[in-house]
Amino acid sequence: MAKRTVIFTFPKEFVEQPLAYRLIKEHNLILNILHAHIRPNEEGTLILEITGEEADIENGLMLVESTDVKIENLSDHVSWDKESCIHCTACIGQCPTHALSVNRDTMEVSFNPNECIACGICQDVCPMGVMNIEV
Ligand code: SF4
Ligand code: SF4
Repeated sequence: MAKRTVIFTFPKEFVEQPLAYRLIKEHNLILNILHAHIRPNEEGTLILEITGEEADIENGLMLVESTDVKIENLSDHVSWDKESCIHCTACIGQCPTHALSVNRDTMEVSFNPNECIACGICQDVCPMGVMNIEV
């Protein structure tokens, strides 16, 4: 099984379309909604973790691309300033996905943007402000 974490931005004319339903029903995908900002007559945003066979994910995203919905990878909106990190590990126990992790031998912290769900917890605990999340 493959996984992609993406941001869908819906034009206001599109927010009532059953896109998530079609991804589940027509493409056998598992959707985990991490964040949703959907209101009538407004541009909407959905952050989704999509799990499924690689081909099903590709076909599902092609369906989305055929609409006016913009797709972006969440990982393109999160960054870690490695040079400014002091490896204090304050974030490690807080990160729910282990996107931030520590090598217990070297006590060096690292960040995997593909595992990040942009929850923002690390931003609250980091004394150096090295996490940047733009969603
Ligand atoms: S925002 Fe920070 S705490 Fe949340 S998943 Fe990403 S790295 Fe972990
Ligand atoms: S809390 Fe900030 S400075 Fe400390 S290890 Fe995590 S990212 Fe680095």
